[in-house]
Amino acid sequence: MRYKSYSVKSFEKLPFVRKMDKEDIENIKVVSKIFPFKINEYIASLVDWNNYKDDPIFRLIFPHKDMLDSKDFEKLKNSNDEKLIYDIRMKLNPHPAGQMENIPEINGKRLEGSQHKYKETILFFPKQGQTCHAYCSFCFRWPQFIGINELKFASKEVEILIEYIKANPTITDVLFTGGDPLVMSTKLLKAYIKPLIEAKIPHLKNIRIGTKALSFWPYRFLTDEDANELLDLFKYIVDSGYHLAFMAHFNHYKELQTDEVKEAVKKILSTGAIIRTQSPLLRHINDSSKVWEIMWKEQVALNMIPYYMFVARDTGAKRYFELPLSKAWEIYKGAISNVSGLARTVRGPSMSAKPGKIAVVGVSEINNEKVFVLNMLQAKNPDLVDIPFFAKYDEKASWIDELKPAFSEKFIFE
Ligand SMILES: *Cc1c(COP(=O)(O)O)cnc(C)c1O
Ligand code: SF4
Repeated sequence: MRYKSYSVKSFEKLPFVRKMDKEDIENIKVVSKIFPFKINEYIASLVDWNNYKDDPIFRLIFPHKDMLDSKDFEKLKNSNDEKLIYDIRMKLNPHPAGQMENIPEINGKRLEGSQHKYKETILFFPKQGQTCHAYCSFCFRWPQFIGINELKFASKEVEILIEYIKANPTITDVLFTGGDPLVMSTKLLKAYIKPLIEAKIPHLKNIRIGTKALSFWPYRFLTDEDANELLDLFKYIVDSGYHLAFMAHFNHYKELQTDEVKEAVKKILSTGAIIRTQSPLLRHINDSSKVWEIMWKEQVALNMIPYYMFVARDTGAKRYFELPLSKAWEIYKGAISNVSGLARTVRGPSMSAKPGKIAVVGVSEINNEKVFVLNMLQAKNPDLVDIPFFAKYDEKASWIDELKPAFSEKFIFE
């Protein structure tokens, strides 16, 4: 298959559109004034078009009427006013959890396309990787796809990156992320990665690539013009003595079931890379234990390692996707209890909040008080990692800022 993406202006050319209601098509056009939308024929082939309305892949890709406040939706229906669109976007919290913070500096130079929040790992956002093969409707990076430029982390500054890593011996990991860095050509990707490897920084051990290409476009590893060259690049990284970790984004087991994805996974693993998987928990897409249980089992069967379950972030159409933390934990518990130890490598449900990654370990009763047991999996202050702490149980709370500490005045990170 040759890569061709369809936008809101062109998707009606695709054959499946004949199966859709007129109203749904119109609604997509209205809501995509706010959220980015893009599709290709491979992803479209994962949707069961005879029952598309509640199909998880349909919900993953297509903007939905309920993602907007009904009043805003009505206003947008008859208007393309830029101010209206801007105001609605701003109401949707496009700057969650300190995304504009943690920008590293070295010798007076700001490393704009990077983020250094946890001491071991620096995130690097290659400029040309700030897009994706398609857009997940829940994505917290949505502002950068619609060109709110101050949020567009971008950098050609691999030289400064190297200088920064050299000066910071706690850094063991570089995580290339986006968007999706694998929308870049291999040539471009090589221009970022090769100098980093050639710099032979002794404390740098792990190269990670955060990507959804396995779900959105497995041909990236199979038949794209530079697919083999890409696999060779992976092999070069591994052969140079680095751990190469694919942080693969999968939201539903339906993304794991095509011959293409299975073949692509094999090819990646054959380079010596490891594939770890992660996903947020999302209403309408994967809000049942069974979905996660099947997904983790299939991932293990394909030799991938389940890694993180995230709580949906406080941005965009959060109300549409969100689940209470109590429910998130129940779903996690229901799934993890039914898989073997090989899939219990996954941690979560975890909130990527300002102080760090906070997991809901469980619900417990202590001194007749019902509480959430929480734990920091990652923290800006590493001394706080792995010290269980407590919050008053609240059935409806869906984010850490809605919780109140139990047995103490403050949370440990405050
Ligand atoms: C999750 C995350 C990382 C990586 O954390 P690990 O637990 O090592 O996978 C790094 N930086 C940021 C900002 C993150 O959110
Ligand atoms: S693949 Fe990742 S970065 Fe791209 S739209 Fe989906 S969640 Fe966002």
